[in-house]
Formats: sequence, C-alpha cells, structure tokens
Amino acid sequence: MSGASVKVAVRVRPFNSREMGKDSKCIIQMSGNTTTILNPKQPKENKSFNFDYSYWSHTSPEDINFAGQQQVYKDIGEEMLLHAFEGYNVCIFAYGQTGSGKSYTMMGKPDLKNQEGIIPLMCEDLFTKFNDCNNDNTKSYSVEVSYMEIYCERVRDLLNPKNKGNLRVREHPLMGPYVEDLSKLAVTSYNDIQDLMDSGNKARTVAATNMNETSSRSHAVFNIIFTQKRLDTETDNTSEKVGRGTRLKEGANINKSLTTLGKVISALAEVNKKKKKVESHIPYRDSVLTWLLRENLGGNSRTAMVAALSPADINYDETLSTLRYADRAK
Ligand code: ADP
Repeated sequence: MSGASVKVAVRVRPFNSREMGKDSKCIIQMSGNTTTILNPKQPKENKSFNFDYSYWSHTSPEDINFAGQQQVYKDIGEEMLLHAFEGYNVCIFAYGQTGSGKSYTMMGKPDLKNQEGIIPLMCEDLFTKFNDCNNDNTKSYSVEVSYMEIYCERVRDLLNPKNKGNLRVREHPLMGPYVEDLSKLAVTSYNDIQDLMDSGNKARTVAATNMNETSSRSHAVFNIIFTQKRLDTETDNTSEKVGRGTRLKEGANINKSLTTLGKVISALAEVNKKKKKVESHIPYRDSVLTWLLRENLGGNSRTAMVAALSPADINYDETLSTLRYADRAK
C-alpha cells in the first residue's frame, strides 16, 4: 500500500526587524485554505495556491487564518501522533529559507509559555499517553531517539560527535535503509529529549560555520522511535508495534537532497492520485536524505510538511519557490 498524500500547511511569520527597517510590504494574503502571493513588480501576476492549512501569524488573533502554536499542533501534531500509535511511520518536516520560521514551528521557544512548537507538544502528549497505558499493566512502551546530520551526502551522528567519520548507510531486508553505528538513546521524558536535541544542535556543521552558506546543504533528522508492547498475561507473549517519528529541517536553496525530496514527494502524490505507478519508480536512491527517509515517506507512512514563509516583498523569489515546492507535494 502506498502512503496517503502529504498533508501540506503553509505558515507565514510576522515581519522581522530587518524587514521592518527596510519598510517592506506584505506580499502574502490568506483566506481559508488559499494562500496568494503578490508579485511586487507586476501586480497583475499574483499567484494563488490551495493547501490543507494556511496559517497567518500577524498580530490580530481575530483574523480567521491566525494560528498560534497550539492550533498548528492540534491540526498537524495530534493527527500525526494518532497515526504513530496506529503503527504508521510518521514524518513531519519543515521547509523554507533561513529565518522563515522552521525552528519556531518545529521547536518553538520551549522555555516560553504557549510558545512550544510541534515537537515539545507532541512529546508531552506521547509521554502522557504512555504513562496512562503503563498504569494498566497490559501494555508497556519504550522510547529511543537518534539525531543525525546529512551534510554533502555524508551522515554524522549528532549524539556522538566524537564519531566524526562518515557513517555507512545500509539496508536491512525487513526494516529498510538505516545508518550503521548511529547512536540510539533511551529517553523517559521530554526533558531528556530536549537535552539531547540541545547537545546535538551544538554539534551541527551549521553551528560551526557560516549559517547562510551551509544551512541549505545541511539537513538535521531527529528520529523518535517508540515501541509498544502488549503484555499478554495468559500466554505470556509480547507483541511489538514500532512507530517512528522524524523531524527534519531544511533550507530552501536547491541542492541534491532537496531536489530529490521534492521529486520523491511529488512522485508519491502521483501514485496516490493515479494509483498507476508503483513505488519502484520513486527515486529514493538519488540522495542519502530520501533513501534514509524511504520508510517515513512512502509505504506504511503518513507525512506532513510545513512550508515556512516570510511575508516581505524583499523575499519574493524565495517565497514563491517555497510555495511551488509545497504545491508539488500535494
Ligand atoms: P528558521 O528555522 O527557518 O531559520 P526561525 O524559526 O529561527 O527560522 O525563525 C526566525 C525568527 O522568526 C525567530 O526569531 C522566530 O522566533 C520568529 N518566528 C518565526 N515564525 C514565527 C511565528 N509564526 N510567530 C512568531 N514568531 C516567529
């Protein structure tokens, strides 16, 4: 069975101080599911796109398209968590140029109330559900995480930065592609996850070098692997169901991983629409990123993408290209 089509949301952030300093105009309009981008040079060349969700962030919460962190989590995170409990491989990724709001959407500002992003809110729910189930003595759960960076087609372990080598990517006959020797650490609370993510972020290539030049080539993949065990007291058997959640953060410039990710996602969308092509035509192997995400994007999986946008006319080209990328994913 192929995966259902990708859930696609676009989210425009408020103006930043640089844009305000340049007296930038807002070129994004949202109404219902429709997002329109105005061409600042040719006002008649406006383009409209439809997405599952169009999120507005400007200051007036009365605006019907306004969505704060809770709303975004409710629409996307809750649904994906449900799918993970059903046994699907779940992948949520954020896409957009540097400074467009990817980290804000995925992580938010976890130390500020009501500003947590999808990952903290999802982990909170995940551990609450686990604790409820662990109390009933019929099921038990365990959670492990891994965190890697793919940079210029090489894989590094962000949770074990001493292992500086290029890790080998292999294929397991049943579980699919995986990274050999990548650390997987057990966690029991969101705080554990946050600590690991913080230390992993410090080990990223992007953190150490010029942000703009490298961020579009660096992809951070955070995996949450949880295992549900049903404890059958009469037969003393246990059965396992594994869900994998992946978080991935992208820059918007063209490169091999992003081009291939776009091709893979639109090919999967075609498979769903036409139900003709088979998944063997999907070019997962063309980049390390898509190869490693094969089980999270196709097959037994559910995927959501949040395309992050700047509202400002000075970013017109990048924002239009992000909207086109998101449009192809539907
Ligand atoms: P990226 O991860 O894409 O490089 P960030 O998430 O760091 O970008 O966002 C850049 C800045 O904009 C941050 O200061 C962030 O807090 C702010 N920001 C982004 N999106 C929103 C939003 N929807 N609402 C309020 N502030 C936002």
